[in-house]
Amino acid sequence: MVGPLYRIFFADLMPTSKQLRQFLPTSFLLILRVVMMMMMMTMTTMMTMMMMMMMMMMMMMMMMMMMMMMMMMMMMMMMMMMMRMMMRMMMMILLLLKYTFYCKIINMGAEVVDLNCSKAKYTHVIFDMDGLLLDTERIYTDIMSQVASKYGKTFTWDIKVQLMGQPGKISSQKAVELMELPINADQFSAELQVLKNELFKTTNLLPGVEKLVYHLVKHHIPIAVASGSNSKDFITKTSKHTEFFKLFPIIILGDNAEVKQGKPFPDQFLVTLSKFSDAPLAEKCLVFEDSPNGVVAAKAAGMGVVMVPDERLNVEFQHNPTLVLTSLEDFKPEDFGFPPFDE
Ligand SMILES: [Mg+2]
Repeated sequence: MVGPLYRIFFADLMPTSKQLRQFLPTSFLLILRVVMMMMMMTMTTMMTMMMMMMMMMMMMMMMMMMMMMMMMMMMMMMMMMMMRMMMRMMMMILLLLKYTFYCKIINMGAEVVDLNCSKAKYTHVIFDMDGLLLDTERIYTDIMSQVASKYGKTFTWDIKVQLMGQPGKISSQKAVELMELPINADQFSAELQVLKNELFKTTNLLPGVEKLVYHLVKHHIPIAVASGSNSKDFITKTSKHTEFFKLFPIIILGDNAEVKQGKPFPDQFLVTLSKFSDAPLAEKCLVFEDSPNGVVAAKAAGMGVVMVPDERLNVEFQHNPTLVLTSLEDFKPEDFGFPPFDE
């Protein structure tokens, strides 16, 4: 529409390109072309620069975003670390509270006993053997350390705590695993046995044992031994004390067929309980133990436990026995309903 109108009304008024070329000098046209080319080049350059600037800005924005993400991740990590530290502190405080509260319970227990409230509570006594009647735990440590060092390993206290009170086979298996020994459990047991045969013959009774056992026998208190030790080791360990062990009419060892699972399972104590002729209730039995596994087993059997642990044993591994003593010499029979020592 515009084209025909333009041709009708304005075409003859506008100069043609030929007229322009005639009217304008050639030099001017040349300059005009050069100027136009320069303008186009300038515009192209400016556009290119703008695009580059935009790209740079985008890259900077991406970098800033990445930095922000990294900062956020670092902040999250720091927060997690702080939370972990706080959790640990809370755990430590809880442990401290538990320890304090636990000590109070022990003290309260002693006070209650002093008030004669729990007299006649217990009628039967079951003794653990290793580390409680006999000073064998020290020998076990020496033997284990000797075999471990032969293979360049160390038998630490932490490993010992996990093995105490357990039957020989399980103990050897665990020891091999925990110390990552390059031998199997049977080979380990065989090497231990050689040293056991030598050293167990020298085993001594621990302080306070004879006084307490003879006292209980004198007053006709039924007593028994419940030990995870096997029959062969038992003979070697007690070879110096055969007369003393005759005082125990019931001795249930780790390889007894009726004991399906060793400590910390309650089988050892429950089988022993079943051997008392007057069939007492479990709650009437007082167990003497030195190992955490033994305390857990006695409690699982529903019995009272007096623990005489190694002095290196941390409180958190004591598993809340009825009473903790540093030595059997400190035991007061009257605190548990038995006749007092004759002084
Ligand atoms: Mg023991």
